[in-house]
Amino acid sequence: MTRLPARFLALLWFFCGGWGSSFATPTVQVRLQVAPATHSFACEYTFSLPATDTASVVRLNLNRQFSIQHLTSSQAIRQRVVRRYYPYFADTMQQVEVRFLAHLRRARQLTFTYSGTLDKNLRTAQVMEFSGHSNWLPFRPLLEYEVIAYSLVVSVPPAYQVRSATPGQHEHGQWTFRGTGSAVEITALVAPQFQQVASAKGPRILVIKAAPPLLARDTLLLHKAEDIIAFYNRSLGAQDPITRFSVLLPGTNRDAFGLLDNATVITYSDFDVSKKDELLILAHEISHKWWGYGSVHDETEWLNEAFATYASLLYLRASGDSAGYRTELAKRVKSAAGAPAISGFDREQAPYPLFRRVIYDKGTVVLAALHARVGTEKMCAILAKTAAEKVSTTAGFLAVVAQVSGPATRQWLGAELRH
Ligand SMILES: [Zn+2]
Repeated sequence: MTRLPARFLALLWFFCGGWGSSFATPTVQVRLQVAPATHSFACEYTFSLPATDTASVVRLNLNRQFSIQHLTSSQAIRQRVVRRYYPYFADTMQQVEVRFLAHLRRARQLTFTYSGTLDKNLRTAQVMEFSGHSNWLPFRPLLEYEVIAYSLVVSVPPAYQVRSATPGQHEHGQWTFRGTGSAVEITALVAPQFQQVASAKGPRILVIKAAPPLLARDTLLLHKAEDIIAFYNRSLGAQDPITRFSVLLPGTNRDAFGLLDNATVITYSDFDVSKKDELLILAHEISHKWWGYGSVHDETEWLNEAFATYASLLYLRASGDSAGYRTELAKRVKSAAGAPAISGFDREQAPYPLFRRVIYDKGTVVLAALHARVGTEKMCAILAKTAAEKVSTTAGFLAVVAQVSGPATRQWLGAELRH
């Protein structure tokens, strides 16, 4: 079974100018109704742009397997649903398109409802997995990982429960969750019951499992997650530490991925962090809480995947396994040898193995070389600043490097990335 840490995150070019109170994210409201008996669902989806965004058209891609029942926008001058090929999925999607008056003085908003059935690989006898890899949500083309503020209300039959990345509220069969995360990463696990282990002190860390029984390895998973988060919080996460985190285990046996919203979904039902590879996956996915602002559509995905990989290796070394660190780094050095430059790398044209060599492996090797050049204290400062500022471009990262380590290191790094 291939276990590729998969986390694809996005470009936020429209606000890469800065963070803080001045930028505004779109708002999404999702009302999800789930019928476990038929594996089906219905969803009402409302997308709102901030009032400062004067876009004249909003397009949202949706899985073509779902049927759209109703589309409304009181401010629209035209609305339609078309089919469009989406190269990133190598598939056709249906696209909701709503056009607004160019000089509309109100926030643009649209709502539509759709219904469908969850694929077999997204459910078991116990659980239905609505997650970042379920392709159940609409997203703007090329912006599947744009940051949005969301509310999620899930209605389920009385015998069922719901869990998400954030703690929710439950009343009369309705489960409500709120958070900030990527557009496609809003998560709802639906099952008759959940098992849970929670940290006794420090950040509130939960391991939530859809199918019984809880095993010793689930408790080990909790303790390793505590250990990893404690290490990150005093190193790369020092300026933006994790205060709560959920490890979601749906048991659907497909892949593993991290979420911006302080959570990771690990679908393997035999996931066991006493194995080094699986411990590294956990460390990689947790670190995506910080490493998720590059684009999945261009070279800046190295800001996600190389950084998450390097973070996991740093954890390995910090946990006392220096030999493991050297072995893992040597694998990446070997893989990166002769690979094309990161700067200007065109992932759309590259076969997947080459993409892995450049974005994951070569990127990791470049970060290790930077670490060797500037030393641990400055490397830690660089990573912490990059994380806290949610850097989304290579130029932005080079600027952080220059601020912490000076222009000569920035120039050196720029050359490494072009090499
Ligand atoms: Zn990843």
